[in-house]
Amino acid sequence: MDEYEIFIEDHCDEMVEDLLDVVSIKSVKSKDEANFTFGKGVHEAMNRFELLCQKLGLENVHRYDDYYSWVEIGNPALPMVGIICHIDVVDFDPTQWRHNPLGELSNGIIYGRGVSDDKGPLIMCLYAMKYIQDQKIPLRVRLIVGGDEESDFLCAKKYISNHEEMPRFGFIPDAKFPFIQAEKSLWNVTFQLTIEQFGYSDSSCLSGGIGQNSIPDQAKITIKGKDHHFRGETGHAANFAQADNAILQLISAIGPREDSLAEILVRHLSHQCLAIPYKDGEINLVPTWIQNKEDKIHVTFDMRIDESFDVSDVKRYLLKFLHLKEDDIVRENISQGYCYDLNHPVVDLLYTNYQECLRRSAVKRDPGRPMKIGGTTYAKSFPNCITYGPGFMNEHSYAHRADERISISSFKLAAYIYLRGLVSFQKLD
Ligand SMILES: [Zn+2]
Repeated sequence: MDEYEIFIEDHCDEMVEDLLDVVSIKSVKSKDEANFTFGKGVHEAMNRFELLCQKLGLENVHRYDDYYSWVEIGNPALPMVGIICHIDVVDFDPTQWRHNPLGELSNGIIYGRGVSDDKGPLIMCLYAMKYIQDQKIPLRVRLIVGGDEESDFLCAKKYISNHEEMPRFGFIPDAKFPFIQAEKSLWNVTFQLTIEQFGYSDSSCLSGGIGQNSIPDQAKITIKGKDHHFRGETGHAANFAQADNAILQLISAIGPREDSLAEILVRHLSHQCLAIPYKDGEINLVPTWIQNKEDKIHVTFDMRIDESFDVSDVKRYLLKFLHLKEDDIVRENISQGYCYDLNHPVVDLLYTNYQECLRRSAVKRDPGRPMKIGGTTYAKSFPNCITYGPGFMNEHSYAHRADERISISSFKLAAYIYLRGLVSFQKLD
C-alpha cells in the first residue's frame, strides 16, 4: 500500500460516517420554503458542509447564500486547482426503494440518494484536501459545491456572475471514469403559444410530461368534451430513442390544423423525436412537456446538439424553421458543448493517474474508454476542468433512480484516484 491508500484505509469508516450524515439530509430543491433560495433541505446540507470543513480543519470557507460554497487550501499565489461538486440531489419516491433513501450501509454497499451523485465524491475530495493540507503539499485547491446542479445550474451561473475566481484547471467528480471527453450542446426551451398557433384550436385541455428533461409517459387532450389519453414510457431526454414519448403519440394520432407548429412537427416525425434537417445532419427535437396556461399553451423541447455546431446558430435556424420568435420563449437552458483533445495536459494527467491507480488496485476492473455524452455537467461552465468519475465501468450507480448505491470497495478506489490525482497536479503550472 502506498501512503495514499494507507490514508484512505485509516479514514474510511469516518468518511462513510460523514457521507451517511450528509445523505440523511434530503437536499432536493423545493419552492415551498419562502425563507430559503432552494428550500430547507439544500440550506441544511450547505450548513452541514460548513461544519464538515470545520471538523477537517479546512478553515477558509466562503458561502454565497445557498447557491454555492467553496473551501480553499494552500498558497493563494499558486494556480488554483478546482474541484466542482454539488450537494443538491434529485427527488425520489421512497416506496420504490428497497433500502433507505436517506442512507444505509448493508453488505459492503452504501445506499441512499446522493451516495454517488454527488455527495460521495464530495466527501472523498474533502478528505483528499485534508491530506494535502496536513502533508503540506504545495498546491492551492478550491472545492466549490453547488446547490442547484440538478435543476437549473443557478449555482454555477451565480459563481460566474459574481466574478469568483475561476480555477486554472481541475476536475468534476460527477459522472464516470475514466472521464467525459465531450458533451453535446443543449437547448432546452419552453415556448408560450396560442392554442391556434400550436395547432389544436378546438381543444379545451392539453397536458403531458413530468419534467423539462424527461420523456413524458402520459399526455392528454380534450376535444369537444372528449378526453384522449396517451401512455408511453419515461426516460432521460438525452436517451430519447429508448423511451416512448406520449406527446409524440398525441400529435401523430390527433391531426393538428394547417400552418401550425404541431403540423410542422408531424411532418418531421422520426424515431422518438422530430428530426429537423440542419447543415449536413439533423437536429433532434424531443417534446418533453406541454400544458395549458389559461388561453395559452406552454410547450417544452429538449435538444442535444452536436458540439461542433454553434448552439446560437442552431437556435436562430430552428426559430425560423418552426416559424417562432425569440419573444415566444418563456424559459430556456442553453449551453455550448465541448470536446477535449486526448493530448490536453489536464486530460492526460487525469487519465494517466486513473490507469495507474487501476493497475495498482487488487480488484481487476475494466478500464473503459473516454466517453462522449448528451448530458450536461459543470464541465461546460468551468474550462479545463474535466468530468472525472466516480462511477466505474460495468458497475451501475443507479444515480437518479431507486436504490442509488456505491460499494465500499469502489468508494475507496475512487477516493484513492481523486487523492493521487490531486497530488499529481503539482506537475502542472
Ligand atoms: Zn450530479
